[in-house]
Amino acid sequence: MSAKKKQPQGDATEARIRDFFERNYELLRMESGQVLTNDLKQEALNQVLFYYRKMKHVADNVTRTEVRLALPEQRTAQGRRFTIEGVVDVVQEGDETWLYDIKTHDPEHVRQHPGSYEQQLNVYAHIWQNLQRQPLHHTAIIATQYPRAMKDAWRRNDMAAFLFEFERWQPLIELPFDQGRLEETLGSFAEVVDAIEGKHFAPRTEEDLDGGGKRRFATRVCRNCDARFSCTSYRTWARKRSGNDRSAAKYFSDPVPDAEQNDWVDGNLETAPIGE
Ligand code: SF4
Repeated sequence: MSAKKKQPQGDATEARIRDFFERNYELLRMESGQVLTNDLKQEALNQVLFYYRKMKHVADNVTRTEVRLALPEQRTAQGRRFTIEGVVDVVQEGDETWLYDIKTHDPEHVRQHPGSYEQQLNVYAHIWQNLQRQPLHHTAIIATQYPRAMKDAWRRNDMAAFLFEFERWQPLIELPFDQGRLEETLGSFAEVVDAIEGKHFAPRTEEDLDGGGKRRFATRVCRNCDARFSCTSYRTWARKRSGNDRSAAKYFSDPVPDAEQNDWVDGNLETAPIGE
Protein backbone atom coordinates (compact mmCIF):
# COMPACT_ATOMS: atom_id res chain seq x y z
CA MET A 1 0.00 0.00 0.00
CA SER A 2 1.46 3.39 -0.93
CA ALA A 3 1.89 6.21 1.61
CA LYS A 4 -0.66 9.02 1.31
CA LYS A 5 0.79 11.65 -1.00
CA LYS A 6 0.40 15.36 -0.89
CA GLN A 7 -1.92 16.29 -3.80
CA PRO A 8 -1.43 19.42 -5.90
CA GLN A 9 -3.78 22.14 -4.64
CA GLY A 10 -4.90 24.99 -6.83
CA ASP A 11 -7.15 27.81 -7.99
CA ALA A 12 -10.59 27.90 -9.60
CA THR A 13 -9.19 26.99 -13.03
CA GLU A 14 -7.58 23.93 -11.53
CA ALA A 15 -10.92 22.94 -10.00
CA ARG A 16 -12.40 23.09 -13.53
CA ILE A 17 -9.48 21.06 -14.91
CA ARG A 18 -10.19 18.38 -12.28
CA ASP A 19 -13.84 18.40 -13.25
CA PHE A 20 -13.11 18.11 -17.01
CA PHE A 21 -10.54 15.41 -16.32
CA GLU A 22 -13.04 13.37 -14.29
CA ARG A 23 -15.71 13.66 -17.00
CA ASN A 24 -13.26 12.75 -19.77
CA TYR A 25 -12.00 9.79 -17.79
CA GLU A 26 -15.54 8.48 -17.23
CA LEU A 27 -16.32 8.82 -20.95
CA LEU A 28 -13.14 7.00 -21.97
CA ARG A 29 -13.73 4.31 -19.34
CA MET A 30 -17.22 3.65 -20.69
CA GLU A 31 -16.08 3.71 -24.32
CA SER A 32 -12.99 1.53 -23.94
CA GLY A 33 -13.71 -0.55 -20.82
CA GLN A 34 -10.19 0.37 -19.60
CA VAL A 35 -9.80 1.45 -15.99
CA LEU A 36 -6.87 2.99 -14.15
CA THR A 37 -5.80 2.38 -10.58
CA ASN A 38 -6.30 5.37 -8.30
CA ASP A 39 -2.52 5.97 -8.28
CA LEU A 40 -2.26 5.96 -12.08
CA LYS A 41 -5.33 8.14 -12.46
CA GLN A 42 -3.88 10.63 -9.99
CA GLU A 43 -0.62 10.57 -11.94
CA ALA A 44 -2.44 11.37 -15.18
CA LEU A 45 -4.28 14.24 -13.49
CA ASN A 46 -1.01 15.52 -12.00
CA GLN A 47 0.49 15.65 -15.48
CA VAL A 48 -2.29 17.97 -16.64
CA LEU A 49 -2.11 20.12 -13.48
CA PHE A 50 1.69 20.45 -13.54
CA TYR A 51 1.55 21.36 -17.20
CA TYR A 52 -1.07 24.03 -16.50
CA ARG A 53 1.02 25.46 -13.63
CA LYS A 54 4.14 25.58 -15.75
CA MET A 55 2.37 27.19 -18.70
CA LYS A 56 -0.18 29.25 -16.76
CA HIS A 57 1.20 32.55 -18.08
CA VAL A 58 0.63 31.36 -21.67
CA ALA A 59 -2.79 29.83 -20.92
CA ASP A 60 -3.94 33.07 -19.23
CA ASN A 61 -2.90 35.13 -22.27
CA VAL A 62 -4.21 33.00 -25.11
CA THR A 63 -5.93 35.36 -27.49
CA ARG A 64 -7.26 32.71 -29.87
CA THR A 65 -7.24 29.02 -29.19
CA GLU A 66 -7.40 26.11 -31.64
CA VAL A 67 -7.14 28.36 -34.68
CA ARG A 68 -7.53 26.23 -37.80
CA LEU A 69 -5.08 27.20 -40.55
CA ALA A 70 -5.36 25.86 -44.08
CA LEU A 71 -3.26 26.24 -47.19
CA PRO A 72 -5.36 24.88 -50.08
CA GLU A 73 -4.67 24.35 -53.76
CA GLN A 74 -1.09 23.09 -53.49
CA ARG A 75 0.32 20.98 -56.33
CA THR A 76 2.86 18.19 -56.28
CA ALA A 77 5.49 17.62 -58.99
CA GLN A 78 3.22 14.91 -60.39
CA GLY A 79 0.24 17.24 -60.54
CA ARG A 80 -1.69 16.07 -57.45
CA ARG A 81 -3.64 18.68 -55.54
CA PHE A 82 -3.45 18.83 -51.76
CA THR A 83 -4.25 21.04 -48.78
CA ILE A 84 -2.12 21.56 -45.68
CA GLU A 85 -4.07 22.04 -42.45
CA GLY A 86 -3.09 22.64 -38.85
CA VAL A 87 -4.42 23.87 -35.53
CA VAL A 88 -2.50 26.41 -33.44
CA ASP A 89 -2.92 28.71 -30.43
CA VAL A 90 -2.21 32.42 -30.71
CA VAL A 91 -1.04 34.68 -27.90
CA GLN A 92 -0.81 38.47 -28.01
CA GLU A 93 1.83 39.74 -25.55
CA GLY A 94 1.97 43.53 -25.66
CA ASP A 95 2.87 44.44 -29.25
CA GLU A 96 4.04 40.95 -30.09
CA THR A 97 2.16 37.96 -31.44
CA TRP A 98 3.20 34.39 -30.68
CA LEU A 99 1.96 31.35 -32.56
CA TYR A 100 2.17 28.04 -30.67
CA ASP A 101 1.87 24.49 -31.90
CA ILE A 102 1.19 22.05 -29.05
CA LYS A 103 2.72 18.58 -29.27
CA THR A 104 2.53 15.68 -26.83
CA HIS A 105 6.27 15.11 -27.39
CA ASP A 106 9.35 15.10 -25.19
CA PRO A 107 10.84 18.65 -25.11
CA GLU A 108 14.36 17.23 -25.40
CA HIS A 109 13.45 15.40 -28.56
CA VAL A 110 12.08 18.62 -30.09
CA ARG A 111 15.26 20.51 -29.14
CA GLN A 112 17.47 17.82 -30.63
CA HIS A 113 15.42 17.45 -33.83
CA PRO A 114 13.93 20.86 -34.62
CA GLY A 115 13.88 20.35 -38.42
CA SER A 116 10.38 18.96 -39.04
CA TYR A 117 8.86 21.19 -36.33
CA GLU A 118 10.42 24.26 -37.95
CA GLN A 119 8.98 23.22 -41.30
CA GLN A 120 5.47 22.99 -39.92
CA LEU A 121 5.78 26.31 -38.10
CA ASN A 122 7.02 27.89 -41.32
CA VAL A 123 3.87 26.87 -43.15
CA TYR A 124 1.63 28.12 -40.32
CA ALA A 125 3.55 31.41 -40.24
CA HIS A 126 3.04 31.81 -43.98
CA ILE A 127 -0.72 31.19 -43.73
CA TRP A 128 -1.10 33.48 -40.72
CA GLN A 129 0.90 36.37 -42.20
CA ASN A 130 0.22 36.19 -45.91
CA LEU A 131 -3.23 34.64 -46.25
CA GLN A 132 -4.85 35.91 -43.07
CA ARG A 133 -2.81 39.16 -43.10
CA GLN A 134 -2.05 39.06 -39.38
CA PRO A 135 1.18 40.21 -37.70
CA LEU A 136 3.54 37.56 -36.30
CA HIS A 137 6.73 37.89 -34.27
CA HIS A 138 7.46 34.47 -32.75
CA THR A 139 6.66 30.82 -33.39
CA ALA A 140 7.17 28.04 -30.86
CA ILE A 141 6.44 24.44 -30.00
CA ILE A 142 4.96 23.56 -26.62
CA ALA A 143 6.01 19.98 -25.84
CA THR A 144 3.74 18.67 -23.10
CA GLN A 145 5.56 15.54 -21.91
CA TYR A 146 7.15 16.17 -18.54
CA PRO A 147 10.60 14.96 -17.54
CA ARG A 148 11.12 11.50 -16.05
CA ALA A 149 13.17 12.95 -13.17
CA MET A 150 10.23 15.14 -12.15
CA LYS A 151 7.83 12.22 -12.22
CA ASP A 152 10.21 10.05 -10.18
CA ALA A 153 10.66 12.78 -7.55
CA TRP A 154 6.87 13.10 -7.20
CA ARG A 155 6.50 9.34 -6.83
CA ARG A 156 9.17 9.30 -4.11
CA ASN A 157 7.39 12.18 -2.39
CA ASP A 158 10.69 14.10 -2.53
CA MET A 159 9.38 17.67 -2.77
CA ALA A 160 12.83 19.33 -2.87
CA ALA A 161 13.87 17.25 -5.88
CA PHE A 162 10.45 17.72 -7.46
CA LEU A 163 10.60 21.53 -7.19
CA PHE A 164 14.14 21.53 -8.55
CA GLU A 165 13.05 19.51 -11.60
CA PHE A 166 9.89 21.59 -12.02
CA GLU A 167 12.00 24.76 -12.23
CA ARG A 168 14.30 23.18 -14.82
CA TRP A 169 11.43 21.94 -16.97
CA GLN A 170 11.14 24.01 -20.19
CA PRO A 171 8.20 22.85 -22.35
CA LEU A 172 8.24 25.98 -24.52
CA ILE A 173 10.74 25.85 -27.35
CA GLU A 174 10.94 28.88 -29.60
CA LEU A 175 11.80 27.97 -33.20
CA PRO A 176 12.11 31.09 -35.36
CA PHE A 177 10.24 30.89 -38.66
CA ASP A 178 12.13 31.36 -41.88
CA GLN A 179 9.96 32.31 -44.84
CA GLY A 180 12.97 31.96 -47.14
CA ARG A 181 12.60 28.18 -46.67
CA LEU A 182 8.88 28.05 -47.41
CA GLU A 183 9.23 26.68 -50.96
CA GLU A 184 11.55 23.97 -49.73
CA THR A 185 9.05 23.05 -47.00
CA LEU A 186 6.08 22.94 -49.37
CA GLY A 187 8.23 20.86 -51.74
CA SER A 188 8.91 18.27 -49.06
CA PHE A 189 5.18 18.04 -48.17
CA ALA A 190 4.44 17.55 -51.89
CA GLU A 191 7.01 14.76 -52.11
CA VAL A 192 5.29 12.94 -49.24
CA VAL A 193 1.90 13.32 -50.96
CA ASP A 194 3.31 11.86 -54.19
CA ALA A 195 4.95 9.02 -52.27
CA ILE A 196 1.72 8.13 -50.44
CA GLU A 197 -0.53 8.42 -53.48
CA GLY A 198 2.01 6.54 -55.60
CA LYS A 199 2.07 3.79 -52.91
CA HIS A 200 5.80 4.12 -52.28
CA PHE A 201 6.14 3.13 -48.64
CA ALA A 202 9.85 2.42 -48.24
CA PRO A 203 10.81 1.97 -44.57
CA ARG A 204 13.49 4.04 -42.89
CA THR A 205 17.07 2.89 -43.40
CA GLU A 206 18.97 0.84 -40.83
CA GLU A 207 21.11 3.90 -40.10
CA ASP A 208 17.95 5.88 -39.33
CA LEU A 209 16.84 3.18 -36.91
CA ASP A 210 20.06 3.54 -34.93
CA GLY A 211 19.84 7.33 -34.85
CA GLY A 212 17.45 9.64 -33.04
CA GLY A 213 19.34 10.93 -30.02
CA LYS A 214 19.00 9.49 -26.54
CA ARG A 215 16.33 7.00 -27.60
CA ARG A 216 16.93 5.33 -30.92
CA PHE A 217 14.29 5.61 -33.64
CA ALA A 218 13.97 1.82 -33.49
CA THR A 219 13.04 1.92 -29.80
CA ARG A 220 10.97 5.06 -29.84
CA VAL A 221 9.01 4.48 -33.07
CA CYS A 222 9.57 1.03 -34.63
CA ARG A 223 8.95 -0.86 -31.38
CA ASN A 224 5.37 0.46 -31.51
CA CYS A 225 4.90 0.10 -35.27
CA ASP A 226 2.47 -2.58 -36.47
CA ALA A 227 4.52 -3.02 -39.65
CA ARG A 228 7.66 -4.10 -37.76
CA PHE A 229 7.03 -7.82 -38.37
CA SER A 230 7.39 -7.43 -42.12
CA CYS A 231 9.70 -4.41 -42.22
CA THR A 232 13.05 -5.34 -43.77
CA SER A 233 14.96 -2.57 -42.01
CA TYR A 234 13.62 -3.43 -38.59
CA ARG A 235 14.02 -7.18 -39.05
CA THR A 236 17.65 -6.74 -40.12
CA TRP A 237 18.28 -4.32 -37.26
CA ALA A 238 16.75 -6.69 -34.67
CA ARG A 239 18.62 -9.71 -36.04
CA LYS A 240 21.96 -7.90 -35.89
CA ARG A 241 21.36 -6.76 -32.34
CA SER A 242 20.37 -10.20 -31.10
CA GLY A 243 23.33 -12.11 -32.64
CA ASN A 244 22.84 -15.79 -33.38
CA ASP A 245 20.64 -16.71 -30.43
CA ARG A 246 16.83 -16.55 -30.42
CA SER A 247 16.56 -13.34 -28.45
CA ALA A 248 15.36 -11.41 -31.54
CA ALA A 249 11.86 -12.46 -30.44
CA LYS A 250 11.90 -9.81 -27.76
CA TYR A 251 12.05 -7.10 -30.43
CA PHE A 252 8.83 -8.39 -31.98
CA SER A 253 6.76 -9.75 -29.12
CA ASP A 254 4.38 -7.38 -27.43
CA PRO A 255 4.22 -8.67 -23.87
CA VAL A 256 2.14 -6.69 -21.42
CA PRO A 257 4.56 -5.66 -18.66
CA ASP A 258 3.80 -7.18 -15.25
CA ALA A 259 3.25 -3.75 -13.71
CA GLU A 260 0.69 -2.89 -16.40
CA GLN A 261 -1.12 -6.18 -15.89
CA ASN A 262 -1.25 -5.62 -12.12
CA ASP A 263 -2.56 -2.08 -12.65
CA TRP A 264 -5.33 -3.43 -14.83
CA VAL A 265 -6.37 -6.00 -12.21
CA ASP A 266 -6.11 -3.50 -9.32
CA GLY A 267 -8.04 -0.87 -11.27
CA ASN A 268 -10.89 -3.28 -11.95
CA LEU A 269 -10.98 -4.42 -8.33
CA GLU A 270 -11.07 -0.83 -7.11
CA THR A 271 -14.00 0.07 -9.38
CA ALA A 272 -15.94 -3.22 -9.10
CA PRO A 273 -19.23 -2.89 -7.17
CA ILE A 274 -19.06 -4.57 -3.74
CA GLY A 275 -20.65 -8.01 -3.70
CA GLU A 276 -20.05 -8.79 -7.41
S1 SF4 B 1 9.28 -0.70 -38.28
FE1 SF4 B 1 7.73 0.74 -38.97
S2 SF4 B 1 8.48 2.75 -38.33
FE2 SF4 B 1 10.23 1.32 -38.26
S3 SF4 B 1 11.20 1.56 -40.26
FE3 SF4 B 1 9.81 -0.17 -40.37
S4 SF4 B 1 7.91 0.71 -41.19
FE4 SF4 B 1 9.14 2.44 -40.45
